[in-house]
Amino acid sequence: MRYISTRHGSQGTPAPLGFEDIMLAGLARDGGLYLPAEWPQFSKAEIAAMQGLGYTELAFRVMRPFVGDSFDEATFRRLIGEAYASFETPEVAPLKPLGDSGLHLLELFHGPTLAFKDVALQLLGRMLDQTLTARGQHATIVGATSGDTGSAAIEAVRDRKTIDIFMLFPKGRVSEVQRRQMTTVLAANVHNIAVQGTFDDCQDLAKACFNDLAFRDRHALTAVNSINFARVMAQIVYYFWAALKLGAPERPVAFSVPSGNFGNVYAGYAAKQMGLPISHFVVGANSNDILARFFESGTMKTSEVVPTLSPSMDIQISSNFERLLFDLYDRNGVALAEAMTSFRSTGTLEVGGNVLAGVRELFDAGRLDDAGTLAAMADCLKRYGETIDPHTAVGYALAQQHRRDTAIPMVVLATAHPAKFPDAVEKATGQRPRLPARLADLLERTERSDGLRNDVEALKSMIDERREMAAAPASRSKVRP
Ligand SMILES: *Cc1c(COP(=O)(O)O)cnc(C)c1O
Repeated sequence: MRYISTRHGSQGTPAPLGFEDIMLAGLARDGGLYLPAEWPQFSKAEIAAMQGLGYTELAFRVMRPFVGDSFDEATFRRLIGEAYASFETPEVAPLKPLGDSGLHLLELFHGPTLAFKDVALQLLGRMLDQTLTARGQHATIVGATSGDTGSAAIEAVRDRKTIDIFMLFPKGRVSEVQRRQMTTVLAANVHNIAVQGTFDDCQDLAKACFNDLAFRDRHALTAVNSINFARVMAQIVYYFWAALKLGAPERPVAFSVPSGNFGNVYAGYAAKQMGLPISHFVVGANSNDILARFFESGTMKTSEVVPTLSPSMDIQISSNFERLLFDLYDRNGVALAEAMTSFRSTGTLEVGGNVLAGVRELFDAGRLDDAGTLAAMADCLKRYGETIDPHTAVGYALAQQHRRDTAIPMVVLATAHPAKFPDAVEKATGQRPRLPARLADLLERTERSDGLRNDVEALKSMIDERREMAAAPASRSKVRP
């Protein structure tokens, strides 16, 4: 499998890259996002042969073409098996019907940090460790988080000798559960940093580290945010999993996806390109509705981020959307690079009427404000006896509004456990959800984090010092006569 950047050709002709390269790099050097030069194809007969497989075997078959010979078969199976053994249920992603409505909840939150990001990150952490160990290398992850990504990334790489992770979060601005899911991980390679600033400040600090190329190369900086194609790959699996349970390849299925960076729903789009019969997608937004406005008007225009009850969808620009735009620009990397540069400076990007009509055949989009979100949580509990979190509630409400054909089952992706957002759930339903048993003592556990002022030089010094300390014993023993 060969990978290209969405901006390929915009800065000379890059060498073709394999899976390990793009996994370690995250973002392409030309500023684009990686994706496969061609989608692997599964015939109807091949999809039919997947029926009844367990989650891990299905994952192996769906992802195998993407990794090529980066891992031998036995190793790849072992990494998948270990990643999903960390989930609370052997089913990994249980599919639950909502009465006989034809709606189904796909529960993606049974991993260690209770959000769907575990599905991809538990595997990515292991793949990174495997590759770095084989190469005798070390990598440093620097990331910024407003909530779910930080804990999922930390949980994915804790205790690995090949990786250090520095996670920046805005001090006092993440929920207590989210903060504690990060700061109670006391592993030596985990560095939690409470920044005196906002989430945007944290993101700017992380970006500044990557933009200092000498610093970036010295520490082999790696990004595990949702632009890493390996995450998209792992998310494709559960679209196959749900569709197979609902009659694929004979019957089509629709999906409703609460969206932020467009990574999750893009994985569904990939599954469709690979041959899975998906009738359409509902892209759900909260009041930060840049995507919904795009699908309505063909114009993408940035605006201020407003805080909502579904904080993991509070975004200004959906970074993964560039992968879909790549197809809308007929896979012309040069034209897309120009469009993205102009979008960065003007805050606006437009596609033509024909292109818009094409994408609207496959995507419906909508928005739900906080009042609607609370109402949807109450409605789902009353009607179907299911407590859902505020992100899932967006997908649930919009699924009902965008049911194109009631004969086609519609799967709502349940992206977080309700106990991750207890205040919103209690407000909507009057019942406070309880953390699952394995996290029940989270509020009593010891926390560790470092404070940092909003200053990139201070951050770089901290990373330099920590890495020197960790490397010191080994280098001393090497120079000893
Ligand atoms: C990250 C996240 C989302 C948004 O997913 P994208 O891939 O960024 O579109 C939705 N819900 C929850 C709970 C999340 O953590």
